[in-house]
Amino acid sequence: MNLKIGVIKGDGIGPEVVTEAMKVLDKVGEVYGHTYSYEQLLMGGASIDVHGVPITDEMIETAKSCEAILMGSIGGDAKTSPWYKLEPSKRPEAGLLKIRKALNLFANLRPAVLYDELKGACPLKEELTEGGFDMMIMRELTGGLYFGERKTEEIDGLMTACDSLTYNEEEIRRIAIRGFDIAMKRNKKVTSVDKANVLDSSRLWRKVVEEVSKDYPEVTLEHMLVDNCAMQLVKNPKQFDVILTENMFGDILSDEASMVTGSIGMLASASLNETKFGLYEPSGGSAPDIAGKGIANPIATILSAAMMLRFSFDLDREASVIEAAVEKVLEEGYRTIDIMSEGKTLVGTSEMGDLIAGHII
Ligand code: NAD
Repeated sequence: MNLKIGVIKGDGIGPEVVTEAMKVLDKVGEVYGHTYSYEQLLMGGASIDVHGVPITDEMIETAKSCEAILMGSIGGDAKTSPWYKLEPSKRPEAGLLKIRKALNLFANLRPAVLYDELKGACPLKEELTEGGFDMMIMRELTGGLYFGERKTEEIDGLMTACDSLTYNEEEIRRIAIRGFDIAMKRNKKVTSVDKANVLDSSRLWRKVVEEVSKDYPEVTLEHMLVDNCAMQLVKNPKQFDVILTENMFGDILSDEASMVTGSIGMLASASLNETKFGLYEPSGGSAPDIAGKGIANPIATILSAAMMLRFSFDLDREASVIEAAVEKVLEEGYRTIDIMSEGKTLVGTSEMGDLIAGHII
């Protein structure tokens, strides 16, 4: 199979970690008979330096012609980088918002996996996480409170602010379908999170999710109120498979879930639209404090590449092989500085990439 992949190396540690993910993909290609056509795309600070804007229209068109995008992170140090002297619409992060919008990336996926090998980094009591956990937070990304109408005005002499939380049934249906599809590739359980005891938008959410679930008889659906979910994530995280939720709840719950896994250098993410197209990137930022030192953890980006194979190309076997290779390297005791602990072997970015690629057989 030939895979046409757009590559945004980005800023800071972006180029370092993306290089390692490509190394692993190339090894997968060698072993399983796939070839890649990579399109290098400029975005963020790297694009500002060349074109004066964080992404060009031409770059967006090229991105659209790809089947998936693998990305490092963008941005720099807001205090020292000249990129942050530009007006907000010209700064690095504006490129990301523009590409998300242009490609209609409405479904955000953030896996939260606790590897048994890294359980020391988990702030929860050991008896709660024995054996690790593996959940996928699926967050609606383009609707809800963050995109609704807002205003601040004086009413009866008091400053009053209003933000509206709006979803229509189609917006709910398309993310619910994505959530159930993903559950079918995992442990076939969806926990839909809402606040249906209070909010109309949540009651519609629940109704539409129920309707969609009828097309997925193999998937168990449960509903959970968001406040309860926030508690359950720290009380019994092993109960979850796919958590399906709207924009603001997902924003908060995905950060909570990632916190209980330990290091930011391990967290992959994906943003998908209605087709197989997706943008795959580590959850962390461009880490300007460690850029160029060869010490960044490339695992989040390598796991993002695995997600790309699974969700954009349906190469589930190859994705599982990458995930197993990551686990094997952790089991062997190799660690980058962010996940280092006593008695383990410290390696740099490129060595970690070599070790993981070495287990793709
Ligand atoms: P950050 O995630 O870049 O860094 C936070 C801390 O985590 C730092 O100490 C960093 O060294 C560490 N870290 C992050 N990734 C790591 C890795 N792979 N290996 C080892 N350590 C790692 O967050 P920040 O410092 O708040 O942001 C830096 C820049 O990144 C900003 O310009 C911000 O806007 C941008 N950013 C971009 C994205 C994106 O591209 N999607 C996301 C978040 C932040």
